[in-house]
Amino acid sequence: MWSCSRICTEGGDRVAEGKQRIIQKFVPGKQVTLAHILEFRPDTVIALGGGSAIDTGKAISFIYTKSSGAAKPRCIAIPTTSGTGSEVTSFSGLSDLEAGAKYPLVDDTMLPEIAMLDPALTVTVPAHVTADTGMDVLTHAVEAYASPAASDFTDTLAKKAFALVLEYLPRAFRDGQDCEAREKLHSASCMAGMAFNNATLGLCHGIAHAMGELLHLPHGRSNALLLPYRAGGGAGTHPTYYRADDRSGDCSAAYPGRRACPAEREDGRGSQTGAGGSLHCWQL
Ligand SMILES: [Zn+2]
Repeated sequence: MWSCSRICTEGGDRVAEGKQRIIQKFVPGKQVTLAHILEFRPDTVIALGGGSAIDTGKAISFIYTKSSGAAKPRCIAIPTTSGTGSEVTSFSGLSDLEAGAKYPLVDDTMLPEIAMLDPALTVTVPAHVTADTGMDVLTHAVEAYASPAASDFTDTLAKKAFALVLEYLPRAFRDGQDCEAREKLHSASCMAGMAFNNATLGLCHGIAHAMGELLHLPHGRSNALLLPYRAGGGAGTHPTYYRADDRSGDCSAAYPGRRACPAEREDGRGSQTGAGGSLHCWQL
């Protein structure tokens, strides 16, 4: 949701009092046109919703600023799912449904000025969406931790997010009204976002974006399918750019509920899938 001067629903526009426009149920990248933005000249964009809504709100601010030369609208991000961490990142992913492609925008100016976290907004999120978005958080944490650009600061955020997801995602999945679990997951989502915004992500996300668009899979589920095979994977196997084996092993060992993995016992390192193979042993 973002503010302008009219209320525009999926079925058409309707005019409201004041200087706000609310767009609901939009498909990112399709309904958001340059004409919409230039016509209204917003000074504030409020992005309320899941990752797609917030990504779109950020892109609106960015495109409007670049196209008009006007001052950047203030962006207020209010997530209603615990997943992308988009409220604290400089990334935005826009879909082209006709082309079946997803385009990333990355610019520091897309970082929202204000992020508001209210876990009460997430208690009605369905269980399967909770699972998908929660696995996205887990993937952000692992990839940020395994990134060659990781630092002490991003490690701290990533490891805490990782631990919170492993402990509280099963609870939130089983009982969406579990307010403590919802709060912890919301914190984890934001922490993982802060981690990967500074440490970047890995090949798991690179593949997941393309795979999700092509197969129409939720983003978090695409990550969950790929994570055991490409956890934190960067560029090839060059030691300078690729340390997923060691670091994803750290994550796995830190989780007390993990199961023994037969392949891990055989070589003492991880499964035969290579990088991040020990992630096969995670048990949510
Ligand atoms: Zn993600």
